Amino acid sequence: MIPIFMPNTKASIAENTPEGQNAIEARNLTKIYNAQGGGAPKHALKGIDLDIPRGSIFGLLGPNGAGKSTFINILAGLVKKTSGTARIWGFDIDKNPRKSRVSIGVVPQELNIDPFFTPYDLLDLHAGMYGVPKAERRTAEILEALGLTGKAQAYARTLSGGMRRRLLVAKAMVHSPPILVLDEPTAGVDVELRQQLWDYVRTLNTHGATIVLTTHYLEEAQAMCDRIAIINHGAVIACEPTPQLLARISDKRLVIRPAQPLSAVPAALAGLNAERLRDGALAVQYNPADTPVMMLIGRIRDAGIEIADISTEESDLEDVFLQLTAK
Ligand code: ADP
Repeated sequence: MIPIFMPNTKASIAENTPEGQNAIEARNLTKIYNAQGGGAPKHALKGIDLDIPRGSIFGLLGPNGAGKSTFINILAGLVKKTSGTARIWGFDIDKNPRKSRVSIGVVPQELNIDPFFTPYDLLDLHAGMYGVPKAERRTAEILEALGLTGKAQAYARTLSGGMRRRLLVAKAMVHSPPILVLDEPTAGVDVELRQQLWDYVRTLNTHGATIVLTTHYLEEAQAMCDRIAIINHGAVIACEPTPQLLARISDKRLVIRPAQPLSAVPAALAGLNAERLRDGALAVQYNPADTPVMMLIGRIRDAGIEIADISTEESDLEDVFLQLTAK
């Protein structure tokens, strides 16, 4: 069992304003990037309103270019917003930049690590940059929590991709922030490491950390997040608990494999939302609330189809996502 590095949620709550029950609050957050090379200015965030509850694992989901990194980078103090407000752990990023910044740790997408530092030195240096006094630095503890003790004194360039990823998580945690943001944490990560990372993130969450992860992998958001916001073209188009988001699409899909492959959808099935699949099977989209599946099967039999096999599919986040982003 790996030791868990605890986020410091208490100190900041104590100093916190009473209204700040959210880990992150954004109001009408806007970002316009200046025009580059004769192009038009880029309206990357178009008035984002978002509440990220404390203690959640929150997914920021959206296609490439949606504005996820811009949002994260504004919170991290790396990109200057054009207008709007944001509070991190109750601290306004304009009025209280230092406190808001120490309340969040961001694990970046890229795996760039200075090759001439050892993991130990890198973390120690980083803690110093955050003003963590020497006596309060937990460098060895963090390295152990992330399984990097054996590499504490190795050159960073000798670390594997998985170790680098973990070192970047460690780096985001040196100041024990109550909020940990992972920007596309599993892009280019193999399945085994992905599982490890997910497990570790869940454990951190059960110990009190609020986790925000950006992803364009629906599977990752569905597996990890208890709440998901979908961002598209710089706007939030949905923000709900994951099960509620999934329930938005109540349609199911029935796939019938006939004894003889179909050459077309039988005329008798006109009026159903049916299509012939490439292999001659029949797929019917239906809503179980108003069309009982047995009735469907009856109609298919009546149309003269001999059924060899039947399967049904639930909608998943991908369906919700496609439906929402298509609008
Ligand atoms: P995501 O993280 O969801 O992929 P980004 O926040 O990186 O999206 O980008 C949002 C939009 O802003 C994109 O159209 C992107 O091209 C543009 N953009 C991002 N960074 C800059 C920049 N520094 N200058 C100009 N445009 C940018």
